[in-house]
Amino acid sequence: MPHATIVGGSIGGLFAGTYLRAIGWEVDILERARNDLASRGTGIARHLELEELIAKAGVTATDAVGIFVNGRDGFDENGNIFGCHEFRQQLGAWNRVFQPMFDAFPTDNHHSGSEFSRFTRSSDTVEIETGDGRTFKSDLLIGADGFLSAIRASVAPDITPHYAGYVAWRGVSHEQDLSNDFQTEIFHRYAFLFPRFGQLIGYPMAGEQGTTAPGKRRYNYLWYAPLSEADLTDLLTDADGKTHDYSIPPPLLRDTHVTGLKKLAKRHLPPLFREAVFKAHATMVQPIYDVDSDQIAFDRVALIGDAAFVVRPHVGTGVLKAAEDAYVLSQCLKGATDINAALNAFESERLPAAKNAVRHGRRLGAFIEQLCEIPEDLPENDLDRERVLRVSGRPFEHIVSYDLW
Ligand SMILES: Cc1cc2nc3c(=O)[nH]c(=O)nc-3n(C[C@H](O)[C@H](O)[C@H](O)COP(=O)(O)OP(=O)(O)OC[C@H]3O[C@@H](n4cnc5c(N)ncnc54)[C@H](O)[C@@H]3O)c2cc1C
Repeated sequence: MPHATIVGGSIGGLFAGTYLRAIGWEVDILERARNDLASRGTGIARHLELEELIAKAGVTATDAVGIFVNGRDGFDENGNIFGCHEFRQQLGAWNRVFQPMFDAFPTDNHHSGSEFSRFTRSSDTVEIETGDGRTFKSDLLIGADGFLSAIRASVAPDITPHYAGYVAWRGVSHEQDLSNDFQTEIFHRYAFLFPRFGQLIGYPMAGEQGTTAPGKRRYNYLWYAPLSEADLTDLLTDADGKTHDYSIPPPLLRDTHVTGLKKLAKRHLPPLFREAVFKAHATMVQPIYDVDSDQIAFDRVALIGDAAFVVRPHVGTGVLKAAEDAYVLSQCLKGATDINAALNAFESERLPAAKNAVRHGRRLGAFIEQLCEIPEDLPENDLDRERVLRVSGRPFEHIVSYDLW
């Protein structure tokens, strides 16, 4: 039986592991984190394609996984609606994808607290070593280890994350903490705002145990705001003066930055929307990076998910893309006698789709990156606020096939 070692036990790793087992492979997943990944993460859009991929993995949701919204509403600086786009969509929570996938994968083969250290290749095997000295002999190594992938650094060291010049603040509040006005006017909407030089989206999401019962749900916002490289360094520096690479764990974010965000909210958000920022029980910040690869298949090594490409969150397909990569990889490997030929077929199919998604994300974020107040201030990008409502949070293929440009 062929054997794969997957480095990274998050969304991409779990989908790949599950699909490979279904086609008769033995799989071990190495996950660096010891703690509970499911307790992290915020809201995500659940595209229909994702539901199909979850079903193809043989995983069935036992309860509601998200909240439906009927469309997107654009709000101006005074809090009045300037445009709507009808589009029924289910908004869920990251852990409502992660947890069922994790539960479906055999615990004996999911090694948490196992950090990848190095690998060596011979003509027909890959030998993977962990930091604590264990080795796994495999036919295939899959890098599903996220945007700072150590596997990518080993096989394609020139591909590194590129900072886009802005960050996304994220916050989640409990429905019951929000005012009656917020609950009746805003809560049920998928809202788009364009506070000066940035963009904010907000939407309802399920409560902590996945409940969609009124009163127990949560509200999620994501606010893109420009930030210079120098200010980013300060943001990534914790109270002990340690500057973190690329991102900072939420508990280490200095209060001064959250206070600064609240000041910005007071100045630039319509009064009702300020609540989303002020009442959030958890505030996180995610610097926006692009990872754009020219190769994702190497000798007995494949990259999937964020290790392969990072698409800006405007497109809302991080989870979907990781699951699609995993599925296509498993279908290329099904019955394959030549693993490298199968990997090349995987690359041929996934590379163009991922490059389109990266380009789409860059276009959506270009006005923020170029310090324009609103999308219309960058006419060569051919995007106005109404169009942003239509084309955000959807895979590139939708934009093309529904002729949304
Ligand atoms: C905890 C968490 C929460 C997230 N929340 C959201 C969200 O709310 N909304 C959203 O849209 N996207 C979220 N994302 C990102 C989104 O899940 C990804 O875009 C998408 O799932 C791609 O997943 P991935 O498996 O490729 O990478 P990731 O989800 O980034 O997972 C990579 C995994 O690899 C592990 N890893 C890294 N290096 C090593 C190593 N050397 N050895 C072993 N393991 C290693 C990491 O611990 C991590 O679990 C989140 C990611 C994480 C990890």
